[in-house]
Amino acid sequence: MNCNEFQYWLVTRDIFFNETPDTLFHLKTCDACKNLYLADTCLEKNIRSGFIRQEISKELFSRIDLAIDQAKKPFRLKKAEIAAFSAWIAFIAVIMTLLILQ
Ligand SMILES: [Zn+2]
Repeated sequence: MNCNEFQYWLVTRDIFFNETPDTLFHLKTCDACKNLYLADTCLEKNIRSGFIRQEISKELFSRIDLAIDQAKKPFRLKKAEIAAFSAWIAFIAVIMTLLILQ
């Protein structure tokens, strides 16, 4: 096995994971491919560790849950806001009426 064959095996080893005696022998005899193999193995290990499920604190979970609930609530005006808005509309109506009657 030469370096090109070994590197092809390295790229495709997720699909064809079988380590043959040829790949193991090349790994022992070629420092360049051995370093490449070690770097690739380390990279794959780190990628796998990034997908490990992490527990989150109950406080953070509650805050996320509350934020989701708040986002689901429809927009509603409070009674004071409705009263202020109605008073504003009535005020504008009176002003418009006075302007028209002049
Ligand atoms: Zn090699």
